[in-house]
Order: sequence, then C-alpha cells, then structure tokens
Amino acid sequence: MRAICVEEHGGPDVLHLSEVSVPQPSDSEVLVSVDYAGVNYIDTYYREGIYHSSLPMTIGFEGTGRVAYDPQGEIAAGTLVAWCDGFGSYAEYATVPRDRLVAVPQGIEPEVAASMLLQGITAHYLTDGVYPLKQGDSCLITAGAGGVGLMATQFARLRGATVYTVTSSDEKAELSYEAGATEVFRYSENLAEQVRRFNGGAGVDVVYDGVGQATFHESLEVVKPRGVVCLFGAASGPVEPIDPQLLNTHGSIYLTRPSIGAWTSLEGEFTRRAQAVTQEIIDGNLSVRVGGVYDLADAAQAHRDLQSRSTTGSIVLKI
Ligand code: NDP
Repeated sequence: MRAICVEEHGGPDVLHLSEVSVPQPSDSEVLVSVDYAGVNYIDTYYREGIYHSSLPMTIGFEGTGRVAYDPQGEIAAGTLVAWCDGFGSYAEYATVPRDRLVAVPQGIEPEVAASMLLQGITAHYLTDGVYPLKQGDSCLITAGAGGVGLMATQFARLRGATVYTVTSSDEKAELSYEAGATEVFRYSENLAEQVRRFNGGAGVDVVYDGVGQATFHESLEVVKPRGVVCLFGAASGPVEPIDPQLLNTHGSIYLTRPSIGAWTSLEGEFTRRAQAVTQEIIDGNLSVRVGGVYDLADAAQAHRDLQSRSTTGSIVLKI
C-alpha cells in the first residue's frame, strides 16, 4: 500500500511516499481503509523526534474511511468510520484501536470527519474538563484561528464565556471573530495588559495556550489570581522549566499541562466527548473549518504550511 514513511527524524522533507505492507490488526484493533487523514501539530512532533516512536514509522493519528477487516467480526466491512489515536493514518490502510472508532453520522462531509475528532475532542476537554467554563467566565485562547483554536472558541461561547483570542494576521482574526471571539488580539509583549483592559481591568479565569514558548509568559500575566493556565501545546516551541514560586507571585495560580490521552481515559469518556463533538456539528453549533486538502504525496507541503503558520482551521490529506 502507499504510505508516508519516516525513516529519520527531521524537517518536512523526511516525509516520503513509499510502498509498505498493509498493517495487521491485533484483536483489540480494526483495519480501516483510509479516505482522508487529519493533519495535526502533534504529527510534526513525532516527525521531528520530540515525541518518541521507533523508526521507520508512518505518522498520523486520525482520519476517516471504511472498515476493511474486524478480527472480532463485530463491525461490518464497509462501515463508514472516523477515528483518532490510530497511529499510521497517513496511509491507504491503518490499524485503529476499536474503542477509538466512531460511526460517521449522515451529513458530515468526509474532510470534516477526518479532522473533527482529535482537535474537536481537545477543544471539548479543555473547555468542559480542564477548566469547565460557565456563563460569565472569561478565557484567552492562543492561535485562535487554528484547528483547536476555532473549535475551542465555539465551545467556549456555547458555554457562555467571554472569549479573547490571539492570531497573527487580519485574515485569521476575521475567522476567529466568525467563530465567536469577543475580541481578537495580535501577539505582543503587552498582550496581558491589552486583554485586562478589555476585561474590565481584571485577569481572565483561564488561558488555553497551545502556542507555548512564545506566549507562556504572557499567559501567566493575563490570568486572574487563583485562575488556571492550561498549557496544552508547543506550536512555537517547548516552554523552559519554571520555578513553582512563579505561580505564587502571579496570585496562587494553577498550571496544568493536559493531554488528550489522560482526558479521554475514564470509562466511556472518549465516546462521550466524541459524541459531544459530532452532535454539535450535526446541530449546526460547531463548524469545522477545513482550510486545506492535500494529496497524500504532498504531506511534506502540508507540514511546511502548518509550521509556517500559513494554514487556518484544520488540514487533511486525501488518500
Ligand atoms: P494549529 O492549526 O493551531 O496550528 C498552529 C498555530 O499555532 C499556527 O497556525 C499559528 O497560528 C500558531 N503559532 C504561534 N506561533 C507559532 C510558531 N512559532 N510556529 C508555528 N505556529 C505558531 O494546530 P493544531 O490545532 O493542530 O494544534 C494547536 C496546538 O494544540 C498545538 O500546540 C498542538 O500540539 C496542541 N494540541 C494539544 C493536544 C493535547 O491534548 N494536549 C491535542 C491536540 C493539539 P497564528 O499564526 O495565529 O499564531
């Protein structure tokens, strides 16, 4: 089968289209035929070797397609499914843990199905789990026009929060406003001061920061005393270790570094969050913007675009 194969860690150029064997599912997995694969920032961490996996490897965690073979015989071949946590999804076939598959409801386009779960469940667990927003709360979301950012903004607004976001261009700011942002800012050294001014002089209840290194200091500054700084990614690079005393001097604030794995680990939690995402899409409350569709052979270009900040929303590979 055709697959994007990584033989050494490095930049986008290490992503090569290759012929490899079709993977064999274990009893806890299902073999799927992939139509579209979602491209996520985490894929770049694996490509670069920031997250470890043995080489050679095929990257990619999510996608949509049809069940090709279920060793348990429970899911009929041909069933239309979407998944996340199916490592090796940049390929014609992938093996997916059976408890990380969902049926794709009618009315959801395949490009959307391929990119709704990893970013959608993340946006859901951030706003519903890590700091469950309620009416009247305020939050700051970095990279507001990115895949997670656009969905987190919509979930936060559905929960009645005031949402401040940060983006790097007018086009991205426009998309963030369309998703429901109350006020959109540009990255700057006095971001916290600007946000506080709009927030009646007070800090926000929570910051959802997926940018990391470039924004972390402002995230500490912008949160109110006893508020939560949720560092959930490192698009600009990893944050340096900090002295815990900093949390004291910023007003007894909380710092957490969550993962989708931990936040879908309870019995039934993955399914509950996945259903929340798909239901909001079907009800018309959550719009998933697919900002780019690339051929499988152009996976390197997709990564270049993602890491050079030229994408908006989610991007997918057509297999
Ligand atoms: P995005 O679509 O948000 O793309 C990344 C965005 O980050 C860019 O578009 C850009 O937006 C912003 N950015 C800021 N600084 C930089 C920089 N120096 N280089 C590149 N981009 C930069 O990606 P995703 O939605 O896939 O992921 C967003 C974040 O969420 C990532 O950090 C990812 O690792 C994290 N994540 C974490 C999960 C978890 O469970 N912890 C799960 C899923 C994602 P702009 O130009 O507006 O600044």
